[in-house]
Amino acid sequence: MKDNLIVVCGAGGFIGGFLVADLLKQGYTRVRAVDIKPIERWYQRFDVAENVASLDLKELSGCRQVMKGASWVYNLAADMGGMGFIENNKALCMLSVLINTHLLQAAREAEVQRFFYSSSACVYNHEKQIDPSMTGLKEEDAYPGMPEDGYGWEKLFSERMCRHFTEDFELITRVARFHNVYGPLGTYDGGREKAPAAICRKIADAKIHGHQEIEIWGSGEQTRSFMYIDDCIKGTQDIMRSEQITFPINLGSAEKVSINQLVDIVEDIAGMRLTRRYNLNAPKGVNGRNSDNTLIKEMLGWEPSISLRTGLEKTYAWIFDQIKSGQSKDSVVNLAS
Ligand code: NAD
Repeated sequence: MKDNLIVVCGAGGFIGGFLVADLLKQGYTRVRAVDIKPIERWYQRFDVAENVASLDLKELSGCRQVMKGASWVYNLAADMGGMGFIENNKALCMLSVLINTHLLQAAREAEVQRFFYSSSACVYNHEKQIDPSMTGLKEEDAYPGMPEDGYGWEKLFSERMCRHFTEDFELITRVARFHNVYGPLGTYDGGREKAPAAICRKIADAKIHGHQEIEIWGSGEQTRSFMYIDDCIKGTQDIMRSEQITFPINLGSAEKVSINQLVDIVEDIAGMRLTRRYNLNAPKGVNGRNSDNTLIKEMLGWEPSISLRTGLEKTYAWIFDQIKSGQSKDSVVNLAS
């Protein structure tokens, strides 16, 4: 298995970069890393991998090219970002449907053994997320379908496309619904960043430049859970390897916090307190979201367990260093081999 060709799509991004790193660490000898970004903008790059940069996977021809000889394929490629991005770029988010559709077509043609699709908690029915004190989203809560406009509809559609490629064409597919993933070497500015990275950046910036105030999107009472990248990488591969998980499954932390509590933790780590200014007109997403992990615990005997405090310490330290050393988002590249 370790000599089979593994393809990671979206390898220049946050999760894809960590997945390539982990596969190489485990001794996989043939990893093909693919992304639309030019290689100098990849978040992590490994010279021992076969790096295919500047390739648009929305095109069927590009998908056919990267599928040659492939055994297992992880699709982590999507045009996405945090709430600020997905609420203002619905068409762009939905165009990612071309990536997964063409990858599935090419995977079928190439007789790929197994295909992974990274779905999202944004597939869940809006009505289940109105109350901030909700306990957790179960897999069945995705239907009847009323997902996040744009991004969530694309994810729900692509999940079903995987299901029907399995039913009709016998392509083995695995689908995980990621709940907010965070960690170092991710997007922390530029408009695509998500809440943990944005809060870390704002507090690190205040610390470095002596600001006293922080802007928070929404009332700060909206609730979420956040999964540290190491848990995401382990869970993704365990789901891919599983013979039982033939349906979309939650992969997320069940440690629910409000955005205000998230800010409390990062302020503690930074050793400072800021005056909070709430921007009620900013994109804030649903009121309450958390992962119900009953099913993954039953299937894998495991669930993401790295505490938010532990993960944020590492994330804050990395973002602080980036800002302090004057790195821009385009230079967030870790050249590793
Ligand atoms: P990311 O933006 O850091 O990485 C995605 C990568 O896909 C980028 O490097 C981008 O350049 C690449 N890409 C976009 N369009 C492409 C195209 N046409 N051809 C080739 N490559 C293309 O995002 P991420 O956080 O690493 O997310 C990976 C996957 O997980 C995505 O499908 C995302 O929707 C899903 N997801 C992520 C989170 C999260 O919190 N990060 C939560 C839920 C789901």
